[in-house]
Amino acid sequence: MLQYKEYYMPRSVVELFDFMEQKDGAVDIVSGGTDCFAREKDLSKRPDTAADISKIEEFAGIELQGDVITFGANTRIQQFLNDAALIDGVPMLRHAASYFADQQIRELATVGGNLANASPTGDMVPPLLALDAVVHTLMKDGDRMSGRDIPVADFIQGVGKSALCGGEVIVSVSCPVLRGYGCAFKKVGMRRSLCVSTVNSAFLVKVDPSGRRFEDVRIAFGGIAPTPTRLKTVEDQLKGGPILKERIRKMTDCLPDDIVRSRSRREYRETVVRNFLVAGLLEALAEIDILPE
Ligand SMILES: Cc1cc2nc3c(=O)[nH]c(=O)nc-3n(C[C@H](O)[C@H](O)[C@H](O)COP(=O)(O)OP(=O)(O)OC[C@H]3O[C@@H](n4cnc5c(N)ncnc54)[C@H](O)[C@@H]3O)c2cc1C
Repeated sequence: MLQYKEYYMPRSVVELFDFMEQKDGAVDIVSGGTDCFAREKDLSKRPDTAADISKIEEFAGIELQGDVITFGANTRIQQFLNDAALIDGVPMLRHAASYFADQQIRELATVGGNLANASPTGDMVPPLLALDAVVHTLMKDGDRMSGRDIPVADFIQGVGKSALCGGEVIVSVSCPVLRGYGCAFKKVGMRRSLCVSTVNSAFLVKVDPSGRRFEDVRIAFGGIAPTPTRLKTVEDQLKGGPILKERIRKMTDCLPDDIVRSRSRREYRETVVRNFLVAGLLEALAEIDILPE
């Protein structure tokens, strides 16, 4: 397990940036620690100092403004299962959280850590991509602080590579509150318990007032490419069209040949994508009591 020689716990963003400046930026950021502490032990490859951001107030909090909900980077995964404002505002993330590790890990693991870790199979990432979420960041720029608003689609840039620059931290994440949508999350992995995803996926569907046609469809997959993927072609095919089981099944024909761009277990992942695509859409529809013929 990774251990640090110096461990600092700032209480504010100002304290954090001051500390990072003192250390010339050679500081590991730690929030829940569920990814960091499991890393290699060899400190010669890492800074020997950590800043634990879990007590920074600016990184906590949940705020609903109009039809946008913003939650702090330190929002723990368990909160998506317990907090009434989050359950109401982003039910999609409750679905994902219910498949995430176990309660012990969920009480520590944060949404900011899941994004910053930029794993191709981070379980909160496909739902956030399907929601068109935006990541808000801060960094010290000379004497002042500057921030960026980065769509999740641009935030994850490769395996373990996020859009964060050195010294930049995630403060919060915003999502539109999508009323009347049905959602589903599906994941498969190699283990039964504490399963790390091989493929995961998020589905959001809205039907028109007749209840017979798709008004909106959002589908995102993780674990099939270095970055999470929105299935835009399928979404566009379904939107505005009738909600029929056969039509949903046929969507597997619309998948591009290179839908899986992971290096390993391509055939397996392709089969999973096909099966999840149909099952995920049907589950999301069932959540809003639509059972297509
Ligand atoms: C037993 C076990 C089971 C797991 N199961 C799952 C699972 O089912 N699904 C899943 O997706 N993941 C799983 N994980 C991985 C991990 O729990 C998640 O990725 C978690 O969301 C990371 O959050 P954290 O707060 O613990 O991050 P940390 O470990 O504190 O940090 C992770 C990385 O993010 C950076 N970071 C953290 N917060 C910020 C911030 N605000 N700004 C900038 N950088 C930041 C850190 O510097 C570090 O590089 C599991 C891990 C363990 C040990």
